[in-house]
Amino acid sequence: MPLTTYWLEHAWLDTHVEPGVALEVSSDGRIAAVRTGVDTPPPGAAVLRGLTIPGLANAHSHAFHRALRGTVQVGSGTFWTWRETMYTVAQRLTPDSYFALARAVYAEMALAGITAVGEFHYLHHAPGGTPYADPNAMGEALIAAAGEAGIRITLLDTAYLSAGFGAAPEHHQLRFTDGTADRWAERVSALKERDGVRLGAAIHSVRAVPADQLTTVARWAQDREAPLHVHLSEQTAENDACLAAHGRTPTRLLADHGVLGARTTGVHNTHMTDADIALIGSTSTGTCMCPTTERDLADGIGPAVALQRAGSPLSLGSDSHAVVDLLEEARAMELDERLRTRTRGHWTAAALLRAATADGHAALGWADAGTLEAGALADFTTIALDSVRTAGPVPRLAAETAVFAASAADVRHTIVGGRRIVRDGIHHSVPDVGQALADSIAALRG
Ligand SMILES: [Zn+2]
Repeated sequence: MPLTTYWLEHAWLDTHVEPGVALEVSSDGRIAAVRTGVDTPPPGAAVLRGLTIPGLANAHSHAFHRALRGTVQVGSGTFWTWRETMYTVAQRLTPDSYFALARAVYAEMALAGITAVGEFHYLHHAPGGTPYADPNAMGEALIAAAGEAGIRITLLDTAYLSAGFGAAPEHHQLRFTDGTADRWAERVSALKERDGVRLGAAIHSVRAVPADQLTTVARWAQDREAPLHVHLSEQTAENDACLAAHGRTPTRLLADHGVLGARTTGVHNTHMTDADIALIGSTSTGTCMCPTTERDLADGIGPAVALQRAGSPLSLGSDSHAVVDLLEEARAMELDERLRTRTRGHWTAAALLRAATADGHAALGWADAGTLEAGALADFTTIALDSVRTAGPVPRLAAETAVFAASAADVRHTIVGGRRIVRDGIHHSVPDVGQALADSIAALRG
């Protein structure tokens, strides 16, 4: 098989920074060999100067929230008032306008070094709840957008059936609902996986899926060995309502309906009891932290240290896309913990990178990505070490510099399946991502 060779000035090899690494990529888009001690670029090799790390996994995204950036920063309020603004944008999207917006958002992610996205997708139907001619038209628009942007997608097709603990969906929520979990499963089962595309399931929350429907969604994911994600205890009001309706916490309710497990990820897991944490950990259920959104929405700081210690693998997501920067998500998890505890060093840069890469990919069903080793998918990204933010690192501490000081603006190259989708900060198919974002967002304003 023909090989492409990339020469990495510095490479993150899971535990340490290695100078002078040749990565051979085979025509099937996987890493064929990793050669260390290669001081100068081999003839014909593509040279990547800076620190190359495995591709970043954005484990929790709602692409359309990108249209809210800035506009939701005026005035005061809570998560719940923010949600009203979010619903008005959701009302305007069509399959065509969602494709255009998501293509730009996923290109923004590629520029930030993200090679796989978990799209938590619940905007299924036309306004008023009428299915499109293809009932999966919106999901297909997202899949096509990721394909155009060159990144992998796990479409976490989301069951969203009620306004809250059995209450009928409100007007804005009619686009989200399939009526019952069985009808959700029927629609989702028509979607097909393909190159660069995995399918997963999601339960929007214990508010939005009645208890007697949870098992149907869990079983669908189980039968396919697919990832299953769920927004969990982001808000204390949700916990209170769940206790009132079912006499147990959301985590306990999910456990009792077979939702927890090693292929399940709880998103946020912010307000949890000790028993909840033990349940999440003992079932190896993952935790996806979204620190920039959690701080933006005034959610609170989740117990990520305790969850991980209990056995929950951690992943990271940019969720509402207040910013799209996985390096910022990674350091924010550590820095939030420092503020709360007034002590430092809860996670090393290596542990934070692991959450942003290997464990994030695993949470999205890409167990063969997120590491630079032979056999893995050839997905990686290069961070400049000569920008105003990153210049002057001790080479062996380049990962610490990247995690604690670099931003998405320092990403120089992004490679997915051996193919370069970002070169010197320029996206291969969306040359002006800023313009694409501006145009697609302006179109929604009408
Ligand atoms: Zn979310």
